[in-house]
Amino acid sequence: MSIILDFDGSLFNTFLPSPNGIGVKEAYEVAVSQCFGSKALSIYREKGLQNRGPSEVVRWLNGGQLSVELTKELVQIKLDCMMSEIGKIGKDGRIWPPIFPGVAEFLNRLNEVQVPWAILSSGHREFILKTFAVWGLLEPKVFSDDEASRLPEYPVKPNPVLLEMACQELGIPFEPNELVYIGDDLVKDGGLAGNAGAHFGWFLPKGAKVPKVELPAKTFIFEDWRILADLLKRNNGEPFESAHLASLFRK
Ligand SMILES: [Mg+2]
Repeated sequence: MSIILDFDGSLFNTFLPSPNGIGVKEAYEVAVSQCFGSKALSIYREKGLQNRGPSEVVRWLNGGQLSVELTKELVQIKLDCMMSEIGKIGKDGRIWPPIFPGVAEFLNRLNEVQVPWAILSSGHREFILKTFAVWGLLEPKVFSDDEASRLPEYPVKPNPVLLEMACQELGIPFEPNELVYIGDDLVKDGGLAGNAGAHFGWFLPKGAKVPKVELPAKTFIFEDWRILADLLKRNNGEPFESAHLASLFRK
């Protein structure tokens, strides 16, 4: 079994603003208004584009046209806003961006039991690596929007090509039956896993409601990473089958 993970809103709560009031949403808003003006900012807010990859945001705001140059500019402004926020400590003593409970334990277990894993994110390598370093976690394998932007069609989630390319580039076997993609967004992450024929682990933190929509075929839902970390612990180093994992959580 191999595991590919989403980053924003799944491992770290980057949507929660930093002590200086900057999260993914705010950084995106600064970048959108600088690149496209204030009218575009209203569209961006109306359409709820904050969980979209940069190229999709550009397509939306650029009359349906993808512009690699504008995407690069948008990304640079977003990163300029956010990079220096990583590691800032808030009044509550928490480091930004906060890690979801159980994530560190889960990742450490994966390393212990040698389950291959990596991150596939619409975010950015530099940001992800610095966040892992600040939290004292081992450097992960990452396939981000930076890598996707170099592919011919600049694929975005839920295009399954992205998952296949990420696996290929990161040396993770692309065997959908033995591959689990875990993320917080049913449409983007669930769609990605579903379109690729992989398992989908839907991270739905406590309190969030399960909408009455059809889920991808091989979906399991969990509300706390500690559940997955415990499962790895109970298996005591034995690799577990993804089908077993799915059956435990299927609703
Ligand atoms: Mg996410």
